[in-house]
Amino acid sequence: MAIVIDQTEKDRRAAARHPEKAHRPDSVMLRKPEWIRVKAPVSREYAQTKSIVREHNLHTVCEEAGCPNIGECWTHRHATMMIMGDTCTRACAFCNVKTGLPGALDADEPDNVGRAVAKLGLKHVVVTSVDRDDLADGGAEHFARTIRAIRAHSPGTTVEVLTPDFLRKPGAVEVVMDARPDVFNHNLETVPRLYLTVRPGARYFASLRLLDRAKELVPSGFTKSGLMVGLGESREEIMQVMDDLRAAGVDFLTIGQYLQPTKKHAAIDRFWAPDEFKGLEAIARAKGFVMVSASPLTRSSYHADADFAQMKANRAAGR
Ligand code: SF4
Repeated sequence: MAIVIDQTEKDRRAAARHPEKAHRPDSVMLRKPEWIRVKAPVSREYAQTKSIVREHNLHTVCEEAGCPNIGECWTHRHATMMIMGDTCTRACAFCNVKTGLPGALDADEPDNVGRAVAKLGLKHVVVTSVDRDDLADGGAEHFARTIRAIRAHSPGTTVEVLTPDFLRKPGAVEVVMDARPDVFNHNLETVPRLYLTVRPGARYFASLRLLDRAKELVPSGFTKSGLMVGLGESREEIMQVMDDLRAAGVDFLTIGQYLQPTKKHAAIDRFWAPDEFKGLEAIARAKGFVMVSASPLTRSSYHADADFAQMKANRAAGR
């Protein structure tokens, strides 16, 4: 009986976070294979990271997206900051971030992020955001202010931004690149055939062009993009996306397994096996990416600090 009550409560909370998905039919949630299982977050360092995040009034994608790696990442103090609120103006079928009409921007947020990064002592930080299609610049200036505030509070920290597509608003990526992030990341998420069902508010070629433009603006910088597998894509479609990303000059590709947040989200087509990720990684490296991270638990910001150092070393060595 208790289980039924818990499930009802879980459903109620899910519907409140994603009102646009409430009418969708339930889909069957597949049981996770053993290679997806992760340990519960219990370490002292995890608690310290949480307390610094709360103290500075910040949101993280680690919590909002229900990331399975949070125990490991927060034990190493690697929290990915999610700026511009906790409410997203899009309604992607895979994403667990709350959707709706967001509030006004917090003018103190860039400074708070900068202070938190300094307190966490991060060598490398990833800053992402909800989609803010309601803002005239899609939030580009807020990203730029945040990059500059991190540099002011923690000059030795390298900064990676994982941005939305700014709803294709003219001049937005220029504003972000003017603040010189060390890595500009924008995820394609899936293959073009699945955009209408998985990422309906976005356009595949507009996302590619965003990455291409970021590289054009700062050719010496690094660009990065990510894909989820398990939504029904084929290996050949993924290889085509790799070619498209290389044509846009993208340096770093991440590939991870899609995990279904609730039964109202897009269903998992299948779990790709660890060996299949290794195969994708080998193909991507052969296609010329400077850095590739592909594994079931890979996420855009997973091990981002170590991978950034490796990517720099690879480029310096001409690998
Ligand atoms: S992989 Fe990224 S989003 Fe997930 S817990 Fe780690 S830093 Fe956060």
